[in-house]
Amino acid sequence: MAEHPWTALYPEQVPVTMQISHRSLIDAWKERVARTPQAPALAYFDGMRTVRQVDDETDALAAAFVSLGTGRGDRVGVYLQNVPQYALVLLALWKLGATALVLNQMYRGRELRRLIDDSGATGMVCTDGGLTETGQTLEGSTVRWMVSTSPLDYQTRNDARVFASTERFASASDGDLCELVDRFRGSRPDAVDLTQDDVALLAYTSGTTGPPKGAMNTHGNLLAVTATYAAWVDLQPGDVVFATAPLFHITGAVINATIALLHDTLLVLANRFHPEVAIEAFAEHRVTFTIGSITAFNAIYQVPHASREHFASMRALYSGGAPIPPATIERFRERFGVYIHNVYGMTETSSAVIAVPFGTEAPVHEASGTLSIGVPLPNLATRVVDPHGEPVPYGEQGELELGGPQVVPGYWNKPEATASTMPGGRLRTGDGAIMDEQGWVYLVDRLKDQINTSGYKVWPREVEDALYEHPAVHESAVVGHPDDYRGETVVGYVSLKSGASATEAELIAFTRERLAAYKCPRVVHIVADLPKTQTGKIRRNVLRESPDTVLDTPTA
Ligand code: AMP
Repeated sequence: MAEHPWTALYPEQVPVTMQISHRSLIDAWKERVARTPQAPALAYFDGMRTVRQVDDETDALAAAFVSLGTGRGDRVGVYLQNVPQYALVLLALWKLGATALVLNQMYRGRELRRLIDDSGATGMVCTDGGLTETGQTLEGSTVRWMVSTSPLDYQTRNDARVFASTERFASASDGDLCELVDRFRGSRPDAVDLTQDDVALLAYTSGTTGPPKGAMNTHGNLLAVTATYAAWVDLQPGDVVFATAPLFHITGAVINATIALLHDTLLVLANRFHPEVAIEAFAEHRVTFTIGSITAFNAIYQVPHASREHFASMRALYSGGAPIPPATIERFRERFGVYIHNVYGMTETSSAVIAVPFGTEAPVHEASGTLSIGVPLPNLATRVVDPHGEPVPYGEQGELELGGPQVVPGYWNKPEATASTMPGGRLRTGDGAIMDEQGWVYLVDRLKDQINTSGYKVWPREVEDALYEHPAVHESAVVGHPDDYRGETVVGYVSLKSGASATEAELIAFTRERLAAYKCPRVVHIVADLPKTQTGKIRRNVLRESPDTVLDTPTA
């Protein structure tokens, strides 16, 4: 049998291995500037920026960051929605050899502070609206400067569906981003001799145990992913990319934003995702490629007036981050005439590494009914292994293990976590998989307790810890239950201390004060006791698979 059978499934234009010639993302960007300076690079409602403008403005912004004391290797928080400023900040930081710490806009208080403390970020770019709260959260932290920006900038349409208000707020102590760009216009930072090993993005994942871990996505990682994936979807000059995924998630940052910036394509942004606004942008800008979670496409499906016209220019549509029910793809194609290709990636692989070949339809695994996530992209070392790390035969189940230039070199300041998750540079994904003889990969089991709600990952422990802080809670366990819209929904199980009382609504509200909304349980069951192993460990799998056994027991 061929060693890499999947290469037979590669689209015509995709080589089996690809040379990554650029030394850094900035090298690749500079080539684009030289090639097509007048081409449009960024669109945001009625606002447009050419490649030349973006280059000039990111030079100015980089100079402003230098004036604030930022240089190579420094981490700077980027706490924004899908706005043009996101792309500008990424390029400006990379020009300095600094690292963008990408921060989920839904994070609040302690969640945000933990990432700042772990990363030792020294600067922060955030939205003007939430400035007071963010400032309070960062008090006494390593952050020395804060720059704010308004999502209303770079456009004039002020679409009420995605802008909470048209009010402009006072800017941060170190200035407003657009004002800084104006003030430093014409300045340029000293060129930095970057290598593929410089860290471009620090993106956090949590984990079953311990504090969150920052995956160090290097310039080399991003170059490898964007080059292989651009070949995969046959991205061509003139393509138009809509950022459906949030740019603070690795998918959005890498294969919406970075890929579009480095290839001769237009990146269309529309602030936070709104299904009606998205399809209008598809039609207005003649979008040809996008990638987002299946929940985003489900939301589009629910827009009554969404039609084939909105998708008329769409050439390639991909969805990643969460399982896709085969029936969802069918009904989407029936209504809009577009096939949704599945794609798999992780924060630790700088996003897309396994995907359905463009123009091919994914097979469904007969025994499990699971839709294939695709086949490995060029340069990815892919194996399915048993618990001892030995490869299992095709057709048998094991853990998906990945290596190659797409896999990050490790977690920020966490050599032990790096050694246990990526022994010898090979990433143990925690995803139970089967590869068939042709090389199609199916995710058939979850070896980790992670909950996947609309593509957002929730680690039960963090939610359980929030519940434990409630004075009435004796024990808590959190699991994902199937949900038609979100894929999975977060459900909590709680037993109360003797004599204590609390309501389900009260416990949910309690978590909402501590966690981003998507992590909070939608339902909390108060039960007499939680199922445990003989050694007293709570058995989440019982709650996941047969919750009735617990719910039938009357509470004391
Ligand atoms: P994240 O680090 O947030 O990107 O999450 C990575 C995890 O998302 C993977 O380990 C998988 O469990 C899950 N995942 C990513 N892509 C897919 C997909 N296409 N189908 C099913 N699960 C996926």
